[in-house]
Amino acid sequence: MGEPVNTEVIKERLDAAKSARMKMWLELCAHCGLCAESCFFYLAHDKDPTYMPSYKVIKTLGEMYKKKGKVSREFLEETLDIAWGKCTVCRRCSQFCPFGIDMALMISTARGICNTQGVVPEGLQKAVANYWAEGNQMAMTKEDWLETCTWMESETGEEIAGLKIPMDKEGANIMYTVNAREPMYYPQDIGMAATIFHIAGEDWTMSSEGWDDTNLAMFAGDTKCMTHVVKQTYDAAIRLKAKNIAITE
Ligand code: SF4
Ligand code: SF4
Repeated sequence: MGEPVNTEVIKERLDAAKSARMKMWLELCAHCGLCAESCFFYLAHDKDPTYMPSYKVIKTLGEMYKKKGKVSREFLEETLDIAWGKCTVCRRCSQFCPFGIDMALMISTARGICNTQGVVPEGLQKAVANYWAEGNQMAMTKEDWLETCTWMESETGEEIAGLKIPMDKEGANIMYTVNAREPMYYPQDIGMAATIFHIAGEDWTMSSEGWDDTNLAMFAGDTKCMTHVVKQTYDAAIRLKAKNIAITE
């Protein structure tokens, strides 16, 4: 059964900024299907109409507006299935609508509303918890992160004389960030990047904090955590007085 749905919160989100634009888009959509051919889900499912962008929006955000936020948990579970399982929010369909209707933004809004009620795919929920706990999606501790970089510096340094992985160097031209899966599963990627920077003679550094450039909170529709993740990287760059941030994701 799960917790009761807080329909007031849903209503507030629906009424929040931009809702006028959303409502206009929902009314404006002619269901012409022009955007459907741009959706790989639709094409990969033999043009099943339930995978059309307009259908997916009508069945999620459209229903929420129609019911003025008074929706059930079962409905939110169905929305989860559509908003995460049948759309990647790639925004391709948004480029094809002659009216400029942004279907992806509407699916993303539906995700955010599901999030307010704890209806989010489990893997993304875990990633959000990890960002709050350790600042990165893998919950890698600062100690492990620093150890991994030191290890890669020494291993790569055996082949490339003089190679360094500068950590927390102030005023570097580039502050290099990585996907947290790299130090966890593919640490050699860090050694390879260091090799490129070394051979290019680049003035670079990595940061002991705010180094994960993924943002799975965005996919979870969690704007608070999404902001937290971006801010960590921004704060690190400010702290180190870095001139540029290189983001690999
Ligand atoms: S979003 Fe635009 S292209 Fe897609 S069905 Fe609606 S009006 Fe047609
Ligand atoms: S944003 Fe969603 S509906 Fe639109 S093309 Fe991408 S996957 Fe398909």
